[in-house]
Amino acid sequence: MVVSSATIDSLLKEKEEYPPPKSFRKDAWIHDPKVPREAAADPERYWADRAKELVWIKKWSKVLEWKAPFAKWFVGGQINVSQNCLDRHLDSPRRNKAAIVWEGEPGDRRVLTYQMVWREVNRFANVLKRLGVKRGDRVTIYLPAIPELPIAMLACARIGAIHSVIFAGFSAKAIQDRAEDCHSEVIITADGGYRRGNVVPLKKTVDEAVEDLPFVRHVVVYQRTKEPVSMKKGRDVWWHEAISDVDDFCEPVPMAATDPLFVLYTSGTTGRPKGVLHSTGGYLVGAATTHRLIFDVKDRDLYWCTADIGWVTGHTYIVYGPLANGATSFLYEGAPDWPQPDRFWSIIESYGVTILYTAPTAIRAFMRWGDEWPKKHDLSTLRLLGTVGEPINPEAWRWYHKTIGGGRCPIVDTWWQTETGMILLTPLPGLTTLKPGSATHPFPGIAAEVVDENGRPVPVNKGGYLVISKPWPAMLMTLYNDPERYQQVYWSQVPGKYFTGDGARVDEDGCFWLMGRIDDVLNVAGHRIGTMEVESALVSHPSVAEAAVVGKPHALKGQSLVAYVVLKGGAARSESLSQELRDHVRKEIGAIAVPDDIYVTEKLPKTRSGKIMRRVIRSLVSGQEIGDTTTLEDPGAVEEVRKWLAEVETGGA
Ligand code: ATP
Ligand code: MG
Repeated sequence: MVVSSATIDSLLKEKEEYPPPKSFRKDAWIHDPKVPREAAADPERYWADRAKELVWIKKWSKVLEWKAPFAKWFVGGQINVSQNCLDRHLDSPRRNKAAIVWEGEPGDRRVLTYQMVWREVNRFANVLKRLGVKRGDRVTIYLPAIPELPIAMLACARIGAIHSVIFAGFSAKAIQDRAEDCHSEVIITADGGYRRGNVVPLKKTVDEAVEDLPFVRHVVVYQRTKEPVSMKKGRDVWWHEAISDVDDFCEPVPMAATDPLFVLYTSGTTGRPKGVLHSTGGYLVGAATTHRLIFDVKDRDLYWCTADIGWVTGHTYIVYGPLANGATSFLYEGAPDWPQPDRFWSIIESYGVTILYTAPTAIRAFMRWGDEWPKKHDLSTLRLLGTVGEPINPEAWRWYHKTIGGGRCPIVDTWWQTETGMILLTPLPGLTTLKPGSATHPFPGIAAEVVDENGRPVPVNKGGYLVISKPWPAMLMTLYNDPERYQQVYWSQVPGKYFTGDGARVDEDGCFWLMGRIDDVLNVAGHRIGTMEVESALVSHPSVAEAAVVGKPHALKGQSLVAYVVLKGGAARSESLSQELRDHVRKEIGAIAVPDDIYVTEKLPKTRSGKIMRRVIRSLVSGQEIGDTTTLEDPGAVEEVRKWLAEVETGGA
C-alpha cells in the first residue's frame, strides 16, 4: 500500500452539537444561510460590497488582480486607514463614544473616546513627521499594552509609514533582528511596562538592541512607569515633550489600496520568524468585515480581545477591525493571574464586558487554576465567546462554554494565521451549529479545501493539507524583502493553492477540524496521526490540563509517541496515573495512538504567544539541535524537558 505523504488518519469523533440560541440568532448580523451561499457564488462581488462600507478617497477600478502568487485587491483605489478608524466616526454619535477602555496592571484606568484618540493620533503623526518619518518608511513599535500602542500604529497609518510592532516581552536580540530585517530608523518604546507586579525595562532593552544598529536615528520614549532611564542626546526623545508643541491636525495621506500598511513577524512556532507584509485596502476590508460579522459587534457591546497587540490577533481584532467598526475595544496591560487568577473575571464583571476573545492556552490555564476563580464573579454580561491560536480541545471548549459562558454564549473557534490577516474559518454565531473542537466553515467569500500533495480533495473525514484556493482581501502581499521565501513557503507545496502548513479534515456536514501542524504530524506504523487528536484524548482525562505529543524515531514503528503532560491543580504524578492515561487514550481514540512514554511536567515549551513549540520537544527527544528559540517564552520549560530525558537516560523514570 502506498501511504500518501499528505493524508492523515483521523481517530477522534466528537459528536456534540450546539445550534445557535434563538435569542442570539434573532438579532445577529448574519442569520440567513443565503449570505455564505451568495458570497461563494461571486466572492469578488461580496468583497466589493463590503469595501463600499468603508470610506475611500478614490474608488478602485478593479476588485482583484491575481497574478499568482501575488494578489492585488482594490487596484486603483485610494484609502487611509486612520481616517476610516477615526475621522469618519467624528461626524456621527460615535464621536464621544469610548473607542478604547483601558486598564493597566496596577489597576489604573483610562477611557478614550473616538475624538480623543483622533486628536492623539494626529498629534503623534505630526511628531513622526517632524522626526523625518516619511511615507513608506518602517517604524518599529515596542510598547506595552497601553493606548499609546494603537495611537502609534494609527499615526503611522495616517502618514503612510509601515509599522512593525514587536511584542514587548521580546529580547534585545529579537528587536535587533526585526529592526534590521526591515531597516527601521525610528523605534517607539516606553520607559517600562508592568508584568506580574514587576517593571519590565523596555527602554533598556531597546538601548541594547540599537547598540549595533547605527541606522536608528530616533527612539521615542513614552513615560509609563517613571522609572529612571538613560536618554541619548540627539537620538532619544520623550513622547510627552515631543507632542507638547505640535499641531492638532495632520492630513491623512491618500494611500494606494495596494500599499503596505504593516510588517509583522510570525510567532516562530515552526522556525525562524517570517516578516509578513500586509496591504492597506484589502487588509482593512477583511479586518472590518470579519470583526463585525463574526463577533456580531453592536454599538452597545464592550468587546475584549485578550491577545497582545504584538500578534496579528491584536492588530486585526483589537485595533483595526474594532476601530473601523466604531466599536469599543477593551485593552488590558497585564497578566491574567495578577494579582490573583481571577483578574479576567473581575474585569468582565466590573466593566460589563459582552464579548470575550481569548486563546486555548489561556483557557487551559484557567481550567488548571480551578473553577472557584470564575465562580466568584458575575459573568452574565457575556453574550459571545471566541478562541484563536491553537486547536481548542473539545474538553476545554466545553469548560469555556459552561463555566465562562454560562451555557448561553456561542463560541466562535476562529482559525487563521499572521499571513491570512483575517479569520478564514469560523462559525457565524447567529447561523452556525457549533461542534466543540471544530472551526466549522469558511467565512463567506473564502474558498478552503483539504487536499493531498497533488491538490486533489481527500475523502470525507480523511485528514490532509488545509489550503485556500482563491485569494482573499487580507491575504499577505509577500514576505518582507524575500519574495522567493514567500513563493517557496506558501505556493510551492500544492500547485496553485495557498498552503497553510496545517492539517485538517472535513466531516460529513462540511465542518473543518484542524488536526495540528503538518510538520508535527506523527508517523506510527504506517499511520499518519495529527497531534491535536492525541493531545485532546489526553486532555479529556480529568487529571490533565495540557499535553504535547511528539514522535521519536523508533526502529520498528517508524516513530513512537512521547507525551508531555501538565496536570491540573491537585493531581499527583504516579506510575499508575501514566498507565491510566495510556488506557484512557486507547479507549478514546485507539491503540495506535497510545504514547510509549508519558512525562509529567510543570510547563511546556511555548512561544510568547502561548503556543506549544512541539519542534523543540521533538528535537530534544530525538537528540537534535533545537534551532531558533528567540520566540521561546520560558527557557526553563526546555530545561524541564531536558531534565526528564536525562533522568530517563540514567534510568531515573
Ligand atoms: P510560525 O508560522 O512562525 O511557525 P505560527 O504559525 O504559530 O508561527 P501564527 O500566524 O501566530 O504563527 O499562528 C497561526 C497558526 O496557529 C495556524 O497556522 C494554526 O496552526 C494555529 N491556529 C490558529 N488558530 C487556530 C484554530 N482556531 N484552530 C487550530 N489552529 C489554529
Ligand atoms: Mg505559521
